[in-house]
Order: sequence, then C-alpha cells, then structure tokens
Amino acid sequence: MKVVILGVVGAGKGSYSKILAKDYGFKHLSAGDILRKEVESGSGLGKEIKERIDAGKFVDDKLMLDLLSKEIGDSEDVVFDGFPRNLKQAQLLDSRVKVDKVVFLDISDEAIIERLEVRKICKECGRIYGLNIPAPDEKCECGGALYQREDDKPEVVKKRLEVYHRLTEPLIDYYSEKGLLVKIDADGGLDVVFERVKKVLGLG
Ligand code: AMP
Repeated sequence: MKVVILGVVGAGKGSYSKILAKDYGFKHLSAGDILRKEVESGSGLGKEIKERIDAGKFVDDKLMLDLLSKEIGDSEDVVFDGFPRNLKQAQLLDSRVKVDKVVFLDISDEAIIERLEVRKICKECGRIYGLNIPAPDEKCECGGALYQREDDKPEVVKKRLEVYHRLTEPLIDYYSEKGLLVKIDADGGLDVVFERVKKVLGLG
C-alpha cells in the first residue's frame, strides 16, 4: 500500500510515519530527512538546500523528486512523509506510483505553534519529543543529545504555515476528488491519534 501523510508542519507526519515503518514494515520516505541528509553531507547542493530550509522555503520540485526517487526502490508498502507538498509534486508522484490512500492530519495553526515551540529531536536516533512526549532529563532514551530544529523557531514556523496554506492545502481537494483522502483529527496524544491512523488504513 502506498500512503501519503498530509498535514501542516508539526502535525505529526514524521512521528506516525516512523511508527508505520517500525511496527508495520512500511518504507518511510521523509522528504525533510532526505534533504537534511544532503545538507549534512556538506555538498554544494546541500548548502543551497540549507539556505532554503532555514528560510522556510521549498526546494525545487524536480530536485525533490529526483532525491526521493533514489530511495523509493521496489518497496510494496511505502509511507510518503512531507511529499508531495504542492500540486506539481502530486502530479509528479502520480506519474511514478499509484497512491492508495492519503491521510490528512487535521490540526489548527494555534495548536501547531504551541507544539513546535517545545519540539526537540534526538541527534543520535532521530526520535521526536514534544508536548505529548516529554524528554526525560532533556536527553533521549537512547542517551543522545536533543536539539531544536532551526526551522522550528517561531518566525520560520510562521512562514512555513503561510507556505503550507498557500501551496500544500490545495492537495486536500486534489486527493478528495480522487476519492483517496481520509481526514483525521490530529490534535491529541500520539497513541490516540495513531489509533485513528491505524483505523483508516485498516491496520489491525
Ligand atoms: P519537514 O522536515 O518535512 O518539515 O521539511 C523541512 C523543510 O524541508 C521544509 O520546510 C522545506 O523547506 C523542505 N522540504 C521538505 N519537503 C519538501 C518538499 N516536498 N518539497 C520542497 N521542499 C521540501
């Protein structure tokens, strides 16, 4: 099954995709993680990407698809997290794979701003901590140090929300018209919301 997780920054796309990967064998393709990997490689391309991410802007559609395509492989069950983010990317994805379901994580901007202010990520294993999952002693369970993403700072979050409403939100209609969209209330604890995700995907 090919699943797209759609939602505003901080809605939980990464967290739920990680559970789908760990417990249900999905291949997790995170557009943001793929970009950050390129940034960490220190390449010239990585430097350009970093500038755009830190400014809360999108990277080029075709470049994004090329980076993602390298990772898709021939996996049967895939969860797309953070891709597509605009209509052009949705069309590009359609030309490559048959999307079976789109889970739209519905949540207000106010709830997002509150969440991202405290979101921290483990440097070692990538685990995400926040309002609903406080980090014990400001460290990850694996012992790794935690950091705040540069683009989770309030002024960048505001910009990312604006970009989301303008460019990504039209995908709700795009996938609704195809009969693929399921909307779930994403304002709640991780376990409660994941139960909703499981239900709409028909997973045990
Ligand atoms: P994320 O980790 O998904 O929140 O993505 C972090 C940042 O990476 C975004 O704010 C964008 O700058 C960039 N990015 C992520 N996904 C895409 C995409 N599908 N297309 C273009 N830029 C993206």
